[in-house]
Amino acid sequence: MKKAVKPILFLLLLLGLAALLFLRFQQMGGEAPDAPGAEPAPQLTVPPASPAPSDIPTAAATAAPTSTPEPTIEPTPEPTPTADPNSPAGRAAALGLPAPPDVDVTSWELVLVNAAHPIDRNYEPEIAFVTASQCPQDVRISEALEAFAGDCAAAGLPVFCGSGYRSYTTQYMNYQAKAAEYGAAVAATIVAPPGTSEHQTGLCCDITDWLRAPMVPAELSQTQTFHWLNEHCAEYGFILRYPEDKQEITGIIYEPWHFRYVGVEAAAYIKENNLCLEEFLALYGVD
Ligand SMILES: [Zn+2]
Repeated sequence: MKKAVKPILFLLLLLGLAALLFLRFQQMGGEAPDAPGAEPAPQLTVPPASPAPSDIPTAAATAAPTSTPEPTIEPTPEPTPTADPNSPAGRAAALGLPAPPDVDVTSWELVLVNAAHPIDRNYEPEIAFVTASQCPQDVRISEALEAFAGDCAAAGLPVFCGSGYRSYTTQYMNYQAKAAEYGAAVAATIVAPPGTSEHQTGLCCDITDWLRAPMVPAELSQTQTFHWLNEHCAEYGFILRYPEDKQEITGIIYEPWHFRYVGVEAAAYIKENNLCLEEFLALYGVD
């Protein structure tokens, strides 16, 4: 019997030691590997990783467009002249006209005489006489008029300078004669009342093919002489002073014979842009 008890006691002793070791291990917080029935170690819940600083969208990054658009290019405006609207160039531009020449509108060449701009009754220019017909002119235009009329004759056309400078007294008599015939209102459109006639300046000339009386616009406008004079007048500094389509502005009937000296620059601009003298001078503030 004693021989059987000893191994059993020894085994119990071993089991007790094993139990003590186990308990001791448990108290130390350890965990028996693969211990049967052990709770699985709680998994740490790792919060979603915060975005790396480099991933945090910044205002700049948000604003950055996905693609850089081409900068809007405004169509290049026409190089509009920035002329003062009250300058000749500015007034011309407002009418769709090119810049007018740099001329002095107070010079003798551009003096304006009409119903609204009378000339002093005592004004008398220094006179010269055109060779062809001894027509009196302001001496300052005689050379240009000689060339103008002379070249027309050289082109094989008859040319006659019928009336240039007329004094106030002569104009008075002419006007009175027309007024007696047509009445003052109509007479004023045919013969300028004294003091309002350009002829008193001596800067103009009635040029026809022959001596004609009366002067009939419909007839004169058909002559070869008129066609030549009208085509070439600006080359000599002259303009057709009373065009057919400007009668409301000039206040004078169509006169396809009355040529006025204004200087080559002004004449070229006036002809190219189909103006009358009143319209041209208005560009410079003359009203
Ligand atoms: Zn005339």
